[in-house]
Amino acid sequence: PNAAGLHDLDASQLRITPTTSLRTVPEPDSAEVWGVKSCTDHMVTVTWTDDYGWHAPEIKPYGPLTLMPTASCLHYATQCFEGMKVYRGFDGRLRLFRPERNCARLVLSSTRVALPAFDPRELEKILKAFLKIDGPRWLPKSRPGTFLYLRPAIIGNGEQLGVTSPSEVLLFIIAVPWPDLSTGSPPGAPPRAPGLKLLASKTETRAWPGGFGYAKVGANYGPAFVSQIEGRKSGYDQILWLLDNQVTEAGASNFFVVWKTKEGKLELVTASLDSKIILDGVTRRSVLELARERLVEGSEHLTSEVKALEVVERTYTIFELEEAWKEGRLVEAFVSGTAYFITPVSAINYRDEDLDIPMGDGTGGHYAGLLKKWLKDIMYGNVEHEWGVVV
Ligand code: PMP
Repeated sequence: PNAAGLHDLDASQLRITPTTSLRTVPEPDSAEVWGVKSCTDHMVTVTWTDDYGWHAPEIKPYGPLTLMPTASCLHYATQCFEGMKVYRGFDGRLRLFRPERNCARLVLSSTRVALPAFDPRELEKILKAFLKIDGPRWLPKSRPGTFLYLRPAIIGNGEQLGVTSPSEVLLFIIAVPWPDLSTGSPPGAPPRAPGLKLLASKTETRAWPGGFGYAKVGANYGPAFVSQIEGRKSGYDQILWLLDNQVTEAGASNFFVVWKTKEGKLELVTASLDSKIILDGVTRRSVLELARERLVEGSEHLTSEVKALEVVERTYTIFELEEAWKEGRLVEAFVSGTAYFITPVSAINYRDEDLDIPMGDGTGGHYAGLLKKWLKDIMYGNVEHEWGVVV
């Protein structure tokens, strides 16, 4: 036990119960995959109780959870989650992308809704143990360039209707084949146009100072579905979330623009983390770090189309974006995130006007293309990089 008399999360206590009936692995890009519900053979569960702390983690056959109707998460949104992927590399190895970032973010989210903390390194060890079991069958070596989506989540599952933090909690991890949202479309559906169309939010806000927009808690997502459905009805893929005209993020992705300032300086701009209203995206952080390292004067990566730029994290408004567009200074825009990866943005609807964003050769701008390639190379082991963590 630790100083508080409770047990820490401990990967060395892991107990494994293998499944006796293997599930069917769906074909890549099939309707099953687009349905996003064919989970892998196993799942991880770890119980936490307020009198013991973290119990021994278990890997066991994938299956339903049992909850009492009084479970805290069903009433008070005592819930948080993560979204990450495991990639089958072109060198045959399985990799996670900066998993320590997701594990640390899950602690941040958990504690924001009064759920327990844990050592994120132990969670990473548990994740790897899980993937050593389900990875080989669900991401066969014969299919390099594919991935599974991983969903670690924590719920307050104690029997407890009292309006207070739960005394029993369940951490679980499931893995599921997920379609490539950045390029594909479901079987039978028309091919997706290369750029995302965003609808700037009108009266709704996703997050606000003092709230919980920086945490990956379910309470940030469900209430956004109304706007998302409205947007889809009018032909837009995602909502560009504004807060008092500040541009924040887009759908479940971070949002970037490349523009020229009035003085002619080239900038890569994204909302800052300071006001705690956006998620600290792992992809966002990686884009910023790669751009600061590789898109600078003297870099071998510069070409006549890809010039050095300044990387700027700051509060900026839709008016600045609109002005840059009107003055022809907007170079490109894209979103970043685990699900949509790096996807160019082709239009932003603001106050019933479509700002059409340059799309380079039609598939997206040069910066989005280059950043996507750099990240892909790391994820799929085309280059050795510390961000690509072999399972
Ligand atoms: N913003 C929100 C609201 C998100 O849900 C996500 C997805 N986790 C992101 C941004 C992108 O974060 P990441 O790059 O870590 O996937």
